[in-house]
Order: sequence, then structure tokens, then C-alpha cells
Amino acid sequence: MQQRTQPDQDPTIPPTVGIAWCAWHEAYSNTARPVRDSSGARLFACYSCREAYDLPLIADDQQ
Ligand SMILES: [Zn+2]
Repeated sequence: MQQRTQPDQDPTIPPTVGIAWCAWHEAYSNTARPVRDSSGARLFACYSCREAYDLPLIADDQQ
């Protein structure tokens, strides 16, 4: 039996259940998380696009 550890995992970012559509670079990404765009709409953005556009994560299902 082998154990896998993920020492690089950031505890502030919830784990994904799969891949999601990144609305910024318009492709699927397994690092996409829900964010709000400038109009307040809820969209997914991947890690690279969040870094590039300084997009805030939506932590929970809040209004
Ligand atoms: Zn992206």
C-alpha cells in the first residue's frame, strides 16, 4: 500500500470536484474556481487567469 501526500495543497482553496470552464481563457481547466467578474456575475477562472487578472475567489455560496 502506498500513501499519497499533497504538501503543496493550499488549504485556503477548496478542492475541486473536477474540471470547469474558465471564462477568461475560454477552455476547461482543472484549476478553475468560482470568482466574480467586474459585473458581479459568477464565473469560473483557472489559477493562471486568477493570477493574471487578480480575480477574487468566492469562498462559499454567499450572496
Ligand atoms: Zn483561465
